[in-house]
Amino acid sequence: MKIARVMVNLSLDRVFDYLIPDRFESAVAPGVKVEIPFGKSKRMGFVVAVTEGSSYPLDKLKSISEIYGEHPKISEKLLKLGEWMADYYCCAREQTVKALLPAPVRTGKIKGKKLKRYYISSPQEAQQFVFASGKKKKKQAEILKRILSEPGISERTLSAEFKNPKQLLKKMSESGLLREETFDCYRNPFEGVMLIKNAPPELSGEQNDAVLKIIGQNEINPDKPGTVLLHGVTGSGKTEIYLRVIEKMIEKGRDSIVLVPEIALTPQTVERFRGRFGDNVSVLHSALSDGERYDEWMKIHRGKVRIAVGARSALFAPFHNLGLIVVDEEHETSYKQGESPRYNARDVAVMRGFFENALVILGSATPSLESYSNVKNGKYSLCELKNRVDNRLMPSVDIIDMRNEPSKEGGRLFSGALVEEIRKRLDLGEQTMIFLNRKGYATQMTCFNCGWTAECPDCAISYTYHKKRQSLSCHLCGALVQAPIACPQCGNRQIRYSGAGTEKIEGLCKSLFRGAGIARMDAETMSGRLSYEKVLGDFRTGRIDILVGTQMIAKGLDFPNVTLVGIICADLSLRIPDFRAEERTFQLITQVAGRAGRGDRPGEVIVQTYSPSNVAIQFAKLHDYPSFYNYEISLREQFQYPPSCHLLIIHLKGKDESAVVGAADSILDELKLFINKETIVSGPAPSPNPKIKGMFRYMIMLRGKRLAELKRKLRQIIYGSGKRKDVEIYTDIDAINIM
Ligand code: ADP
Ligand code: ZN
Ligand code: ZN
Repeated sequence: MKIARVMVNLSLDRVFDYLIPDRFESAVAPGVKVEIPFGKSKRMGFVVAVTEGSSYPLDKLKSISEIYGEHPKISEKLLKLGEWMADYYCCAREQTVKALLPAPVRTGKIKGKKLKRYYISSPQEAQQFVFASGKKKKKQAEILKRILSEPGISERTLSAEFKNPKQLLKKMSESGLLREETFDCYRNPFEGVMLIKNAPPELSGEQNDAVLKIIGQNEINPDKPGTVLLHGVTGSGKTEIYLRVIEKMIEKGRDSIVLVPEIALTPQTVERFRGRFGDNVSVLHSALSDGERYDEWMKIHRGKVRIAVGARSALFAPFHNLGLIVVDEEHETSYKQGESPRYNARDVAVMRGFFENALVILGSATPSLESYSNVKNGKYSLCELKNRVDNRLMPSVDIIDMRNEPSKEGGRLFSGALVEEIRKRLDLGEQTMIFLNRKGYATQMTCFNCGWTAECPDCAISYTYHKKRQSLSCHLCGALVQAPIACPQCGNRQIRYSGAGTEKIEGLCKSLFRGAGIARMDAETMSGRLSYEKVLGDFRTGRIDILVGTQMIAKGLDFPNVTLVGIICADLSLRIPDFRAEERTFQLITQVAGRAGRGDRPGEVIVQTYSPSNVAIQFAKLHDYPSFYNYEISLREQFQYPPSCHLLIIHLKGKDESAVVGAADSILDELKLFINKETIVSGPAPSPNPKIKGMFRYMIMLRGKRLAELKRKLRQIIYGSGKRKDVEIYTDIDAINIM
């Protein structure tokens, strides 16, 4: 007797056995979606395996009540990847299905569109019909004549030319006059968008060596090509290398996935791929409608495209003959999913590559310590591009010590040097980018008289003040309220605004550089895709001279006329309470600096800081990644932080603080036996943000080289006894952010 193991869409982290009725026998297979009786109700689930027999008495087993045909279906390889993810990320297996299948496919609510085409069955018969039709059947005759003139004409075209032809078409098909054929029709997000083919440029010597090396690695060991870290300085032409390797894959009939950070998934990026490979590229971005997302999935599944470009979730594109996965800007934190399953697409990419014998390329100018250490320990191979294309120079970086440099004009925000350099650029008709990773006008609004501070009552942190909108926002819970004009406590109207954000910088620029075109790009001004494209368009055509922005302008942008980049305060990222603060700072300065001097003229970067001797800042100035790595890795080893060990955080949150603390204590107690002596346990302690949206937050941090056993036990504790109502518990493995 064949039995199906089914994971049910409840977070129970268990599979249940079901009998397979004869009528479903041939269709039930791993990955197929089924409906099953569960308790008193019916539930959805996915088959994970089909086995002979069960450890349960067969007469106690219930039967599968329905199956969902061919789709949605998870391929066996992806099912295996999901199992690995549940193990590694310590989550319920059902939760991984959310990653493996996009919602429009998983839920079955969206259907594929069909297109009908019509042919004449027998021309003689049709001629006769037309001849004998007379007045009554005039419309049918007209339709027939039209189909005779264009066999295979679509229903869509006929509907446009005749009034309501469907009824008649059906009638004539049934009587045998017409032959109807049905085709799959895909919604096309690029309909009407012109495709400009771009010819491949001639590779630089370094690029050529890199391509040969990467392809060589793939040929030598086709079964396990492994992972390459492509470490190339900003502007070294990494994308061109991806394009060449993809081309090779197409020649071999193999498929490619390219992951880019969501923020970098701009029309400019998409053009580079579509310009080379045209409609062979499927683009998966967050603005797709459900129908479009469904269709893109189907196109990939049915082999209609060979390349998928997209953010994090594109990693699970259902290709059947995957040859390559590229993870561009592999150090980006946006590859880590913020909700369960909390996976890092970069690391799962390496696993998918391993399971499917596909080559994996991780690209970055500032590799994560994790990936670079995998090069050092021999797990990945390294490929380097040390120069920019066309022999362009790396930008020069000046560090300005803001402790002695508040300028007359720019106050504490703009050093004299920065003001002067911006003026030079304005005179020369060159462009400037100014970076500050903090939005709003001020991060704090305080009363001069009584000391009152505007705070989010649910999160106990100060609100960010937005001047133009006259509003206050909370960056933790997203709350948005009206800003008071006077102190609500004492009525005083003298308010102090401190902690400048991009809005303030923009205002300051307007008063310092009168007549210049100035724009700001941050989450507040960029509410829609269009505003983003408009500002970038205006910047490209030179209508904007100075672009002020948050991390939105830090990455990937390629504007040849930008010769100056100013970083207002490099210390912001250093002050976050996180062991990766220095690494983030190094990455940020290098990436932002990388926007300068991408054209013929060399670029210059001004880094303003209160800690000019900081190591991350100094090595970023020298463009010296290996030295920064050596310095930072020794600290991580000394204090036992990733990548020298694993990091597992157990998060707990709830409205009742004592219940949260109680749950934390009891979990730690249950885990005790499974914590080996090299593992460091910190907490339970309040999280760095101890309260968000009125929920108290605690965490337990575990660091160690061997956590597998601990993770297994933890999974049982969290999912085994059903969901707790008062306290929400979740785990974060390889946490990217300890808040
Ligand atoms: P990276 O991602 O390494 O920062 P890009 O791939 O964005 O660099 O390339 C930087 C610029 O150089 C792009 O405008 C790209 O079109 C151009 N480029 C890349 N390779 C070549 C080449 N071999 N010859 C000329 N231009 C190139
Ligand atoms: Zn007051
Ligand atoms: Zn809040």
